[in-house]
Amino acid sequence: MTTSQDHNLFGIFRSRIENLDAPFLQLPDDRVISYGDMVKRSAQFANALVSLGVKPGDRVAAQVEKSADALFLYLGCLRAGGVFLPLNMGYKDKELAYFITDAEPALVACTSARKNALEEIVSACGSGRVETFDQGGGGSLIEIADGSDTVFKDLHREADDLAAILYTSGTTGRSKGAMLTHKNLSSNAQALVDVWQFTNTDVLLHALPIFHTHGLFVATNTVLSSGGSMIFQNKFDVERVLAALPRATCMMGVPTFYSRLLASKELTRDLVSHIRVFISGSAPLSPETHKKFEQQTGHAILERYGMTETSMNTSNPFDGERRASTVGFALPDIEIRIVDIESGGELDTNEVGVIEIRGPNVFKGYWRMPEKTKEEFRDDGFFISGDLGFIDERGYISIVGRNKDLIISGGFNIYPAEVENALDAINGISESAVIGVPHPDFGEGVTAVVVPEGECPLGTEDIRATLERDLANYKLPKRVFFVDALPRNKMGKIQKNQLREQFHAAYQA
Ligand code: AMP
Repeated sequence: MTTSQDHNLFGIFRSRIENLDAPFLQLPDDRVISYGDMVKRSAQFANALVSLGVKPGDRVAAQVEKSADALFLYLGCLRAGGVFLPLNMGYKDKELAYFITDAEPALVACTSARKNALEEIVSACGSGRVETFDQGGGGSLIEIADGSDTVFKDLHREADDLAAILYTSGTTGRSKGAMLTHKNLSSNAQALVDVWQFTNTDVLLHALPIFHTHGLFVATNTVLSSGGSMIFQNKFDVERVLAALPRATCMMGVPTFYSRLLASKELTRDLVSHIRVFISGSAPLSPETHKKFEQQTGHAILERYGMTETSMNTSNPFDGERRASTVGFALPDIEIRIVDIESGGELDTNEVGVIEIRGPNVFKGYWRMPEKTKEEFRDDGFFISGDLGFIDERGYISIVGRNKDLIISGGFNIYPAEVENALDAINGISESAVIGVPHPDFGEGVTAVVVPEGECPLGTEDIRATLERDLANYKLPKRVFFVDALPRNKMGKIQKNQLREQFHAAYQA
């Protein structure tokens, strides 16, 4: 009998371990967890899951705080053939009820504080169980793991078997469960190791959450696929990140990490002289931040682009020009094309259209939503990302916004990113979001929501006058609203749907 090749993602991580004593995690309390410890602890979680009845293909939902054990639960789940389903700690009972009812996990790991609420939800589903998992190391699941064997024989997995389901943030309609296979994740991790030149001497400063593709897959899987280590911080805290930077060789972050670091005088060339690369993604990095960061540190931030459904799609070059406002080139083996929104026909250089993606990274579909899945794929296998962008003559890809964020005013298309970049470059403006809201004459009115820098003496007319120098009239905001802060989710993405709601009556008489 011939056995097919094993695609269990954990097998790839294991194959990269050269020395079991090599460090994997440096924790906030200065404890160091070696690769050998990682293999043993993840085996304990794999054994715990099996003893609790988790079978291959079963979903394991985890609404737990960031911790080393939370990572080992993820790894144990891979090893046991489960499908890991991380949930944002910010989700409330009603949101959790939706995810649990939809995904029907065999096991839900949660903090003790959430236990009762989740038990009610799970019992209403008619199957599954709840175990507790607390940050300080307590909880029933952790106790079961503590008492479990440190050896586990990893399950054989096919390339197409599910490794994880990640729910999309659902800013338009229902949140959807993106099904990611072992091959999706391993191919992407390998591509990132190659293009970003990760090795086992790398030390990644990890301050991202681990319920999202960025912190869990882009950061963790890439490090595990290179045999490197991570300085593992519970959350992003400017002081702690500054203190750890001299020990790191790279950092991955959302743009707000970089703008917050820039506000500190302690961020100097000397402090980051040991760093090999700073990487940014999950939301657009403003060209201003890119420029200031390079001036202050000598590092051009490497911006890349990805999404829950596809992991990473493009990256600026490691060697070569990292161009602000662009997300670089398609990763190896990944095809990207730009198509016309209406006709679906492929567009030429510099023409703005929908970004479509095909490659081993692209997810298997939305969990239990075959119709929705069908809608989002072309017949030739390209995934319709919903992002709008263009490719310039040098092949660099730029994103100009989400399809749904496109503003159509008086029949003209306005791409918010262009107006936002122009606004952010104005002295006295810290950041901005540009949205379209109903307008009696124009269909939608271009509307700017602006966070002033200090006491902003600028008024709407000053801002329009400055923008007028570079932008066509139809792109100028008809109204400008000043706010203290823009609503953002945990990944730093501006919640434009909230802004559209807040200002929807801006042009009503
Ligand atoms: P998520 O699924 O939460 O990772 O969000 C993915 C979305 O974030 C993409 O579809 C883009 O709209 C946006 N995004 C990710 N990276 C970038 C980037 N570098 N520049 C602009 N938008 C980005």
